[in-house]
Amino acid sequence: MIFTVAIDGPAAAGKGTLSRAVAAHFGFAHLDTGLLYRAVAAMGGDPVAAAHAVSPEDLARPGLRSLEAGQAASRVAADPAVRAALIRFQRRFARAEGGAVLDGRDIGTVVCPEAEVKLYVTATPQVRARRRWLELGGDEAQVLAEVMERDARDMGRATSPLRRATDAEVIDTSDLSIDAAVARAINLVADRLATARSA
Ligand code: C5P
Repeated sequence: MIFTVAIDGPAAAGKGTLSRAVAAHFGFAHLDTGLLYRAVAAMGGDPVAAAHAVSPEDLARPGLRSLEAGQAASRVAADPAVRAALIRFQRRFARAEGGAVLDGRDIGTVVCPEAEVKLYVTATPQVRARRRWLELGGDEAQVLAEVMERDARDMGRATSPLRRATDAEVIDTSDLSIDAAVARAINLVADRLATARSA
C-alpha cells in the first residue's frame, strides 16, 4: 500500500512528536525532512553538492538538533537548488510501499501534493518559543526572537515558502495537550486510511 501523511508547520509546533506517534501507531516509516536541511548545512562546503551527497547516515550527525543548526538549515533551505536536490530523496521515501509520514514545511504543498493526508500543525510563536526554551535552555526572549526570525525566513522565501496547503487539516497545539493532539491526528489518518482501503 502506498499512503503518505504530510505534516507541515513552523518550528516547535509539535510536528515531530505528532509524526513519530502517527508513524508508530500505523507502522509507517517516518522522515523528519528538517534533518535533511540541518545535515546539508552541517556538512559545510557547497550546500548544493552536500544536498546531492546527503545520505541517511548524515541524518544521525551529532548536534543537528541545536538552535544554531536550525538557523543554518533555514538559510540553506532558501536556495532553490538545494531544495531541488533533496526532493527526489523525499518523494521516493513518501511513495515507498508500506506507508510513510514526512514532516517539514512544504511536504503537502510541493514534495507530496498527492499525499493522502495533510496536516498543518501550528501554535503561537510564544508557545513554540517556550517549548524550545524548555528543551534547549538559553535566554527565553532570545529564543522567541530566533523562532520569529526563522518563521519570517521560512514563510517569506520565494521557493516553497511555509504555508498551509488548502486541503490540509489544521491542528493548533497552543492549548492542546500532546495526547489530545496525537489523538486528533490518529483519528484523521485512520479515517482516510479506511477510505483508501475500501476504494
Ligand atoms: O523542522 P526543522 O526545524 O528541523 O527544520 C529546520 C529548517 O529546515 C527549517 O527552519 C526550514 O528552513 C528548513 N526546512 C524546509 N523544508 C522542510 C523542512 C525543513 O525548508 N521540508
